[in-house]
Amino acid sequence: MSQQTELEYGEVRNYVAGEWRTPSAEGIPVDNPATGEPIAHVGFSTEDDVDAAVEAGQDAFEEWRQRPVEERIQPLFELKRLLEDNQDELAELLVDEEGKTFAEAKGELRRGIENVEVATGIPSLMQAGHVENAAPGIDETAVRQPMGVFAAITPFNFPGMIPMWFLPYAVATGNAFILKPSEQDPLVPQRMIELAEEAGFPEGVVQLVNGGVDTVNAILDHEGIEGVSFVGSTPVAKTIYERAAASGKRVQAQGGAKNHIIVSETADLEFAAEKTVGSALACSGQRCLANDVVVVEESVYEEFVDLVVERAEKQVVGYGNDEGTTVGPLISPEHEQQVRNYVETARQEGAELVYDGRDLEVDGYDGNFLGPCVFRDLTPDMVIAREEIFGPVVGLLPVEDVDAAIEVMNESDYGNAASLFTGSGAEAKRFRHDAEAGNLAVNAGTAAPMAFFHFGGEKESFFGDLHAQAEDVVRFYTDETVYIERWPDA
Ligand code: NAD
Repeated sequence: MSQQTELEYGEVRNYVAGEWRTPSAEGIPVDNPATGEPIAHVGFSTEDDVDAAVEAGQDAFEEWRQRPVEERIQPLFELKRLLEDNQDELAELLVDEEGKTFAEAKGELRRGIENVEVATGIPSLMQAGHVENAAPGIDETAVRQPMGVFAAITPFNFPGMIPMWFLPYAVATGNAFILKPSEQDPLVPQRMIELAEEAGFPEGVVQLVNGGVDTVNAILDHEGIEGVSFVGSTPVAKTIYERAAASGKRVQAQGGAKNHIIVSETADLEFAAEKTVGSALACSGQRCLANDVVVVEESVYEEFVDLVVERAEKQVVGYGNDEGTTVGPLISPEHEQQVRNYVETARQEGAELVYDGRDLEVDGYDGNFLGPCVFRDLTPDMVIAREEIFGPVVGLLPVEDVDAAIEVMNESDYGNAASLFTGSGAEAKRFRHDAEAGNLAVNAGTAAPMAFFHFGGEKESFFGDLHAQAEDVVRFYTDETVYIERWPDA
């Protein structure tokens, strides 16, 4: 422990019942992905640690749910201000533990803050419905009521945004909320919960438990938790969905992805190439919205390959807090190796590596770096065309026309996001109708919805029915009670 206190960011703690506590079980170091050096240590929470949070949440819920809705949203206004005032510090921390660039980190935080803003509209979002004289002399009303303690389990790639898809809505609707962030980058979530404490939520309403698989299992099996929101990889999402449902919980589980970009011969190719490279390489490709398979009409294929390579060559790979960096490191050495294995598999399967970032060195840093890799001549059956890679790797696949491209994308097991670049309204209409993904974009790289729309995928990218953000998550966090009333004398 003495060694740990010397770490730049020290020991990561839980926030339970209004107190900062060290998790009970031994955990892991938190490394800076650009240097490979440990910057903090996070302990793992045991069943007892989780139990303490659930109990405190249940106690807090009894009082919190009674407060008028207008009162419940006041700390959110304060949280928004605090998040904005501390945005630069949070962004630097985010870069240090996750690896993305400072600009990407600030963008991510902005998207998180948007959710706090939308959740301040809970007085309207919670409204259900009322019909006067629904039957003779009877008025019928639906009300949305909070349910108790909810938990969210979040991934490493957006530690400053994804917790905010849930926290503001859970508490504004009147529930108590427990966050279990990724153990790979728990520092930004910890800082955000410190700010939530400062914003004035009563003790037990917002809580934090750190940990790994055992902590998650304790959450999933706990009978005092009403529902679980999960965001992470597909195999884990499936397990979460099944295990949490087995103990009677509501579950929304967002999984992994394989996102396609389709390029029509009618598109503005320069623009499409710019957006394609941005979409594939932003956050080093570690986004559930990264578009890493680009399906291009044959007539413009050769030209488009050149445009993509030209732009990949211009990327500056490095430490995200250094000015000029456009692509940061990957989260861990293990993940870097996994992405390198995908590159090797693609070569063995016959895709041609036309831009090869594998030997890239970053001066002064010894982290998990991989330069951009661009493949051409993918076929739909190749591993690189089917599996989520989650790295700075993009592959181009030629097809006869846009209809064939939509067919290729619809064969995917996943359905998170897809984009079409086109100059044709008819193609755009066909795409919107036929493409099987939860987030579609035309002439835009990444279909990241604003916080006032829900966010969620389809097929193997999502398990559940109500998604994250906006009205969907409000419905997830509430029971809708229907109430009928008759006054015979009236
Ligand atoms: P992950 O599935 O490894 O981990 C996510 C969370 O689950 C973490 O909090 C982790 O502690 C926990 N966890 C990991 N393994 C577990 C297990 N076996 N049992 C119980 N809990 C477990 O995901 P990650 O690597 O942190 O994040 C990257 C993945 O998340 C990618 O697949 C990406 O596409 C996906 N993702 C999806 C969305 C979306 O909206 N669909 C958004 C962001 C990330």
